[in-house]
Amino acid sequence: MKTIGLIGGMSWESTVTYYQIINEVIKEKLGGLHSAKCVLYSVDFQEIEECQSNGDWDKSADILSEAAQALEKAGADYIVICTNTMHKVVDTIKSRIAIPILHIAEATAEKLLKSNVTKVALFGTIYTMEQDFYKSKLIEKGLEVIIPKAEDRKLINSVIYDELCLGVTAEASKKAFLDVMDGLAASGAQGIILGCTEIGLLVQQQDTKIPLFDTTRIHATSAALTSIE
Ligand code: GLU
Repeated sequence: MKTIGLIGGMSWESTVTYYQIINEVIKEKLGGLHSAKCVLYSVDFQEIEECQSNGDWDKSADILSEAAQALEKAGADYIVICTNTMHKVVDTIKSRIAIPILHIAEATAEKLLKSNVTKVALFGTIYTMEQDFYKSKLIEKGLEVIIPKAEDRKLINSVIYDELCLGVTAEASKKAFLDVMDGLAASGAQGIILGCTEIGLLVQQQDTKIPLFDTTRIHATSAALTSIE
């Protein structure tokens, strides 16, 4: 079994889910008392969020590269960055280590293609929804990506940072998310990417008929399966 190097803490609320899913997949595949070999480097999310809001992506890349190097030294065979947004600096991190990084958007694109979805809506932080670093990975694979309208993007972003990353799941926010999803489905989205690792804490597949692609579940499952390939 290969050792997974997890860069977590962004936020820790969703890192818990990664740890759980990775171990559930290993248990299901290998049975018995098997569990995942992994090393977790959990950062202080306050520091990362300050880099994001100050536009200091270089500093955040330095922090995450140090984490990746520490994981490499600790024996990790590959890296899993447990957030969508911070894939903005994935190329810098990649250039500073010798082990591979399992990209969250690539794993998600693969899952969408397998599900025959070609037009998809993307939920996430404003960085993920509005900038190109994430969408381009999906578009490269031939997917058409739509995003919520400006006021909905603002709402989604504030629910992520002011509620979900603080462990708060509010019924009103869940209803608001589901309403936005319905609107996107009416505009032709065949599915919704939960492109923020905390959204699955608020909305799950049983809440809607629209197919949901939860990046935490997809990424963590792919991380676990890679370790036993
Ligand atoms: N976990 C979130 C994501 O998947 C947001 C927190 C962050 O900015 O890293 O994008």
